[in-house]
Amino acid sequence: MDFDLKPEERKRLFDITFDKIDKFYSQTKELKITPNLDITQIRAFINQADLEEGIDYEEAIGLITEGLETYSVHTPHPKYFGLFNPRSNFAGIIADVITASYNPQLAAWSHAPFAVEVEAKLIQAFCEKFGYSKLSSDGVFTAGGAEANLTAILTALNHKYPAFAEDGIFSIHKKPIILCSEEAHHSVQKSVKIVGLGYRSVKTIQTLSNLKMNIVALEESINECLTNGESPLMVVATAGTTGTGTIDDLEAVNEICKKYNIWLHVDAAWGGAAILSNNLKRYLKGIEHSDSITFDAHKWMSVPMGTSMFLTNHKEILDKTFRITTEYMPKEAKELDIVDPFSHSIQWSRRFIGLKVYLSLLFYGWKGYETTIEHQARIGNMLKQKLIENNWNVKNDTPFPIVCFADDRFKVEDRFIKTILNSILAKGKSWLSVYPINGQPTFRVCITNYNTTELEIDELVNELNLERANILSKLVGQK
Ligand SMILES: *Cc1c(COP(=O)(O)O)cnc(C)c1O
Repeated sequence: MDFDLKPEERKRLFDITFDKIDKFYSQTKELKITPNLDITQIRAFINQADLEEGIDYEEAIGLITEGLETYSVHTPHPKYFGLFNPRSNFAGIIADVITASYNPQLAAWSHAPFAVEVEAKLIQAFCEKFGYSKLSSDGVFTAGGAEANLTAILTALNHKYPAFAEDGIFSIHKKPIILCSEEAHHSVQKSVKIVGLGYRSVKTIQTLSNLKMNIVALEESINECLTNGESPLMVVATAGTTGTGTIDDLEAVNEICKKYNIWLHVDAAWGGAAILSNNLKRYLKGIEHSDSITFDAHKWMSVPMGTSMFLTNHKEILDKTFRITTEYMPKEAKELDIVDPFSHSIQWSRRFIGLKVYLSLLFYGWKGYETTIEHQARIGNMLKQKLIENNWNVKNDTPFPIVCFADDRFKVEDRFIKTILNSILAKGKSWLSVYPINGQPTFRVCITNYNTTELEIDELVNELNLERANILSKLVGQK
């Protein structure tokens, strides 16, 4: 079997693939965003191809691209106002092709010194952007924010309990507690389940009416832990919550953490990108005092999934948490001032995750990112204004581009939101979601695409207005 294929065949298939991809890429806006969800049809579509002998190469590529086009939510669409899934920038796409082709192994430095050094340089650059000092900081690329948050809990445990690496949870005498707001991401809960502390080791702190963590309640909860003989291990502050884009008061949370000697982790998976903008970075003030940070490049930096970072201001802690002495791994790293990524990471064999960020920076520069991040924030503000002008009631307050809104005339009528949502999703011209705020369902619209402009915002507001007018006229008809 010729797995390489002949050179002419490779060229032909790459061209065919490129044409398909480029058609999707340049005409994304023409597509219906929402997929057909008929599971019988989807399985039949997949089962038409025989895996025993394989099928014609060109047909195979056509099958996959058709499958993805018909049966996916088109997150790269400029009217996908969704869950932080951006359009992949083109540098990121090229980077993934290059990574797959060279397939560098980033477990050991000596196997891929270029790739490992590129990632190290990026980690250092991001640490410095977030205000960590060059000498004390470290970090690692992860597959996602969930892996970064898990890494944070592991490092906090290893920091606090010197015997944790050897004896795990048996080295702990008082129950460790992780505190986060009720708006924090659920990967925090998942992480404590993985670590073995169990779900109940997370205490959620109420939010104020502005949706930020209630600092008074945080301190009360810490004192309650201490009274109960528990041990507050870590506070997770969120800089840009998933639901409403709210930024916890990082300075205030930090003060409490320092007072009680608790690890401060800032989950800035999405909102962290604001650090790249001179106008927006002030909203992250205080992040520089944290012990660790989660940052996803596959969100606001628009690189393909899964590209995330765990950053820490404790230089030795990743090593302490993950180092395993192995006989069979290449030894060069020991002699030189270098780090083998496998000794700093949950993953072992690891792909060149960082190349997507590196090539994007080589193409667009930090300047290009600043422009696009500020553009998206501006579009978010514009949307907020237009919604207010059109008698929608905005329910969240954030400088980041997420707007949550409802129409208070229908406050008690929860079918109002659902009817409009279902109708918009069925038409497939826009994608938005629903998020509850203080018990009230609201529409949640996030500008997550660098190609979204005022035009798309106007189209969305028109769609919403029309749907609302339809419901109003039906109500009048009934009376
Ligand atoms: C998206 C998100 C996560 C999870 O990150 P993944 O990359 O999806 O694993 C964690 N925290 C916050 C605040 C997020 O927005």
